[in-house]
Parts: sequence; structure tokens; C-alpha cells
Amino acid sequence: MKKIKLIGLLWISCFYAYSQEVFKNEELSISRLEKNVYVVETSDKTTMYIIEGNHKSVLIDTGTKCRALDSIVGLITQKPLMVIATHAHPDHIGNIGYFREIYIHPADNELLKSYNYKGKVNYLYVGDVIDLGGTRLEVDLMPGHTPGSIILIDRAEAIAYTGDAFGSGQVWMQLKPHIPMAMYYESCKRMLTWMDKGITKIYCGHYPHVKRALDKAYMLTMTALARRLGEEDTEGAVPAPYAKVGAMGATNPMMLSDGAVAIVYDPEHIN
Ligand SMILES: [Zn+2]
Ligand SMILES: [Zn+2]
Repeated sequence: MKKIKLIGLLWISCFYAYSQEVFKNEELSISRLEKNVYVVETSDKTTMYIIEGNHKSVLIDTGTKCRALDSIVGLITQKPLMVIATHAHPDHIGNIGYFREIYIHPADNELLKSYNYKGKVNYLYVGDVIDLGGTRLEVDLMPGHTPGSIILIDRAEAIAYTGDAFGSGQVWMQLKPHIPMAMYYESCKRMLTWMDKGITKIYCGHYPHVKRALDKAYMLTMTALARRLGEEDTEGAVPAPYAKVGAMGATNPMMLSDGAVAIVYDPEHIN
């Protein structure tokens, strides 16, 4: 079985050698981003990352429509796999059912409950270090988009995996449960502190929208927007063109933007 998988992977690798794409089916494609990092992009623009260490591997987020996700990840890495959800939105935990256990921050437990996951839920906390062998990921909590949004920091490679904590161009802050903008501003400043300490690349939760690592300029703009909204300065805001409304979000979401960076928020619940 393993041999067949391996031959399949080799064939796929040769076929896509020039594009760095190592796997593709009708629902998703997988490309190499770094020497031991792969990005999984789904047709509906959700994103996962696979990071392979010497001893074990990590899958960050699980996307939406991805049949046999466990087997597909098995084509990329055969090391013992740890599955981490950056937060408990459906487009990040959509396929946790393929895995026996997951890791998440407990502050997103309420969101996770609506999913009715049958496997084991383990918790990650600020300061936890995940040692993959040769690669170390540090956990930090960045409340805003959700109460339990975490990021994973690889200091050696200067990378942060941020899920939706700072958006992928725009961050959605109009969702329930609602987090005050002033608290999100604190998270943004904390992210800038990481960047001052050497982190240069932000791999976000919806990579197909940006097709690159977000940088410090992005974070500076995002932080400035968060500060303005935290102070309830909404000058220049417009109705959000395509933000989710209803059950999860605000009735009349607004958007404050600067160039290609934006915050979508609920004018009834800024703070
Ligand atoms: Zn989200
Ligand atoms: Zn998302």
C-alpha cells in the first residue's frame, strides 16, 4: 500500500516539478512553499498547511470539502501527524472528522461544540512549543476574529501561521461571539512585536486570495485600522460588500479599509 502511494507521489512530483504543485484533484491542490512546508488550497479558497519535521508532522486546519483528506495528507508526509485548528470556524475544522484527535485553543470550545466532533479534543495554550524534530512551533493566542484564534510561530524560519487572526486581505470582526476591537488592536500590536523579533512571513488562512506571505507592511496597516476602530473612528467606512450576514455575523456589517487591507466589523458592537 505504502509503495503504491510512494510511486503515485513520485509520478505526481515529476509531473508538476516546474510548478511546485505536488498534488491536485478536483477539490484541492498542494504546492511546496518552503523546504518542509506545503500549502493545501481548496477550490473554495480555504487553506491548510502541512509542515514536516524529522519526527512528526503537523496539519494546520482542515478545510471544507476535501474527501479522504487523511489519505491525501498521507501522500505528502508519512510521519505521525498532529492536527491543529487555528480556530473553530467551519472552513478550518470542516474535515476534522477524518482525524482521531485535534488540537485547539479552549477559548474556541463553544464554536467547536456546534460541530459535534466525535474525536478527542486536546488543548493548546500560549507558550506551548510543538517540537517536530528540526522544526519548532510556538503557540500564541490572538483574540479578535474568534476568542481562541491561535497563531503558530516558527522562529528559525521567520514564519507565522496565522489562520484568520489577521485575515487574508481583510479580517472579519463582525462574527459572533463578538470580540471588542480594542482587544483585537492588542493582538495586532502583539503580532507586530513578533515581527520586530524577526518574523517576516505571515502565512494566512485563505492563501488563494493573496498567493504570497503577508508582511510587516500589511500588519502595520492592519494595526492602524484596528487602532482607529478601537477608538471608534469610522470615517470613510462603507457597507461591507460581501461579508456574511445573519446567524454568524452582523445584520449590517461595515468595512474600513486602507488599500488592499480591510476590517469588516459590526457597527453595533465595535467595542
Ligand atoms: Zn475564521
Ligand atoms: Zn477562514
